[in-house]
Amino acid sequence: METQDLLNRVKEDDVKFISLQFTDVTGAVKSVDIPSHRLQEALEDGIWFDGSSVEGFSRIQESDMRLVIDPKTYTVLPWSPLEMRRARVFCDIYQPDGTEFPGDPRGTLKRTLARLKEERGWIFNVGPEPEFFLFKRNGPQAIHPVPHDVGGYFDFSANDDAVRVRTELMGALAGMGLEVEMGHHEVALGQHEIDFRFADALQTADNVLTLKYTVKAIAAQHGLVASFMPKPIFGINGSGMHCHQSLFDTQGRNLFFDEQDRYCLSPLAYNFIAGQLLHARALSAVVAPTVNSYKRLVPGYEAPVYIGWAQINRSALIRIPQYTQGRNQSIRAELRFPDPSANPYLAFTVMLAAALDGIDRTLQPPEALNNVNIYHLTPEEREERGIQELPGSLAEALRELEQDTVLQEALGPVLCEAFLREKWSEVEEYRMKVTDWELERYLELS
Ligand code: GLU
Ligand code: MG
Repeated sequence: METQDLLNRVKEDDVKFISLQFTDVTGAVKSVDIPSHRLQEALEDGIWFDGSSVEGFSRIQESDMRLVIDPKTYTVLPWSPLEMRRARVFCDIYQPDGTEFPGDPRGTLKRTLARLKEERGWIFNVGPEPEFFLFKRNGPQAIHPVPHDVGGYFDFSANDDAVRVRTELMGALAGMGLEVEMGHHEVALGQHEIDFRFADALQTADNVLTLKYTVKAIAAQHGLVASFMPKPIFGINGSGMHCHQSLFDTQGRNLFFDEQDRYCLSPLAYNFIAGQLLHARALSAVVAPTVNSYKRLVPGYEAPVYIGWAQINRSALIRIPQYTQGRNQSIRAELRFPDPSANPYLAFTVMLAAALDGIDRTLQPPEALNNVNIYHLTPEEREERGIQELPGSLAEALRELEQDTVLQEALGPVLCEAFLREKWSEVEEYRMKVTDWELERYLELS
């Protein structure tokens, strides 16, 4: 969409305000709002804002940054009231000297994908499966909200609040241009999943952010709280964001497909998988980037713990979904440890970097873990098979990232430093807090 088209659309849609959006290093959506009559000016000159107040952005002395609208990302927010119609656009961030800001997560992914296309003629596609919980507040003062329905995996109950909310959500998301493929109840009480069609990684990352704030906005209209926290409740499944990935060429051919192979995977796909397995422990810091993420990555809840790949095994880190005859385009590798607390721009940037390292070094993955329950293997058996574990904590994952020059290079020094600084401070804060568990365990005993 070009500038003039955008101005026309805003008029046709009777939009009153436009949110110019971008994310900080953690993936939190930031927004500068303008009335629509300032759009033309914003398109011509960009909008200046003070970057020093945004996590991971500039130092005080060089704080002014410029937002440049990406017109293709225009969409009306369907839940905004008609008389105050609001639309959003995503923006690229520039520095005062006119160069691209290297600490911009979206810009970093955009540049990475442009390079991939230019240098290799490839497109990185991602289809995500974000999971989330809907909670009802337990009274106005309640600190711990409670799950609000009684459904189980794929359960259907027509009178259920959750079904109403989910149906409305799917409608709203479709209205925002997401190709919703499926919405269903997840394994845990109050847990849901809405899947949308794969697209190139930039569009998918934009879609993930769109999905998250749309779900929150619509849930709030029903008096519910939507949460994408990876493990909100001990003892039941957490929320993941499995990512189905493939590489296409510019003619739209899936480069992962090879009918000669027993799993229909091409040599390129094997190298891709091997690269991600090799870098898995460092990748973890970015795709599962909160203290809470590591409470999800434990045995027993369909989340991965060990580093390996397989065709049907849901406990594997990378799963190759069953090939359906004739569906060559859909051959893909499902990475199962990302969760929805990740900044999708950073996550897709490092996932791709790890895979390309595998491709450039023609790495081969170890044997597939089909028909083995990895959880039942003893530590000695795992060691014999060379099966490593994911980090057990955010601190462990951050130390791995600090050793991984391939991933560091993909993020670039500015973004990488900002990410590590922010995440170490999260780890430190957590380390000093006294949790409920500690009180239960030690208060009377000590
Ligand atoms: N909720 C599970 C997870 O944490 C995944 C369940 C599923 O396979 O969809 O990854
Ligand atoms: Mg799921």
